[in-house]
Amino acid sequence: MNFDLDDANPDFRREVSAFLDDHVTPALFEQCRRTGTRHDWDLHRALGAQGWFAGGWPTEYGGRGDESSYEILILSDELERRGIPSDGLGMTMLVANVILRAGSEDMRRTVLPRVLAGETLICLGYTESHGGSDVAAARTAAVRDGDHWAIDGQKMFTTLAHEAEYVFLLTRTNPEVPKHRGLTMFLVPMDAPGVEVQPIWTIGDVRTNATYYTDVIVPDTARVGDVDDGWGIMGIALMFERTGGGADVRLFADAVQAARSVTTSDAKSLLEDESVRERLARLAIEREVSTLLRLRSQWAESQGSRSMIEGSMFKLFSSESQVRAASDLLDIFGPLGLLEAGDPAAPGSGEFSHEFRHSIVLPIYGGSSEVQRKIIAERGLGLPRSTR
Ligand SMILES: Cc1cc2nc3c(=O)[nH]c(=O)nc-3n(C[C@H](O)[C@H](O)[C@H](O)COP(=O)(O)OP(=O)(O)OC[C@H]3O[C@@H](n4cnc5c(N)ncnc54)[C@H](O)[C@@H]3O)c2cc1C
Repeated sequence: MNFDLDDANPDFRREVSAFLDDHVTPALFEQCRRTGTRHDWDLHRALGAQGWFAGGWPTEYGGRGDESSYEILILSDELERRGIPSDGLGMTMLVANVILRAGSEDMRRTVLPRVLAGETLICLGYTESHGGSDVAAARTAAVRDGDHWAIDGQKMFTTLAHEAEYVFLLTRTNPEVPKHRGLTMFLVPMDAPGVEVQPIWTIGDVRTNATYYTDVIVPDTARVGDVDDGWGIMGIALMFERTGGGADVRLFADAVQAARSVTTSDAKSLLEDESVRERLARLAIEREVSTLLRLRSQWAESQGSRSMIEGSMFKLFSSESQVRAASDLLDIFGPLGLLEAGDPAAPGSGEFSHEFRHSIVLPIYGGSSEVQRKIIAERGLGLPRSTR
């Protein structure tokens, strides 16, 4: 096990770091905060144009045909450490990995080059309002008519649907069999007639969406995997799901800097307060643990592990740790911490209140904490399967 990605490609990390120094401005963070859209097209396209999504991918699908799969890991690591919102990249690469393994040849040749060039986004259409965590209960129906399918239904929390070119859609194709056996995945163009997107604003300022599908006609070539094997395809997708948090170096540096500059009533800096230092130290330690769990999960994936335990461990710890960290930061700065970015009296870059509200969703999306504990208990510890 090699935790040190730097050894894999130090020059590449330096190159990425210098590029991000040049391209990522405070305006990018401000724009993401204001719009709730954790994706920036200019940055995404610029990263794609560098060829940094294409390492390790076959040339016939727009890749570089080399062995390296580390570049995307190093790039993701740098984006995460800097707290740069890049949800679109994560989702799109997830679906691209599924298409590579289960998509038709035609789909691979048309969609993957555009993904690897940073020209397209794919959002995830799994969750439905009645099912929530129980994604296999999906009711959105796909009915076959010759070479085409008619799709009808609705999805909840289709994040980035308003920016995406496609939705990776979980549908029910057979209501007569047990729920896991009657599902099929499609890659549906968001501009197909009958697709509608409505915004949902969350407490953490993130914009997500409800999406509606009314008699949406797609060709059979839009299918990903076999008919009624959607659950198997979801299994592949889950292996590439990367949600977490807690490795944001920028937030930590901001907190230390702000604690140094804010003075208490006895004219000392907050950083001189032992309890403040203790909390910041815990934040730093948990951030490091999160990073190690993420690297372990990526390592397991690179070794072909399909257990998902490592990913669940990372997701569970890092998201809950981010909630603790954001809560501690509000405590440290008290009422000042509630001031928003742009207020001259706000400590640091004014993101502590936003981080606190945003952190709340982390243990929910991408599989809630309870669901992650269930996976770890059943698959990792060998405990009896729960009945839900
Ligand atoms: C900001 C945001 C963005 C999202 N983006 C997307 C997206 O892009 N695409 C998409 O498809 N979905 C997305 N989701 C949906 C997300 O994955 C679901 O919210 C999540 O799976 C939980 O579903 P739910 O909110 O309906 O809660 P429920 O499933 O109703 O859960 C309610 C509570 O019950 C617990 N629970 C549920 N099942 C079990 C169980 N078996 N055992 C123990 N406890 C359980 C949960 O942990 C939770 O505490 C997003 C959600 C949010 C908040």
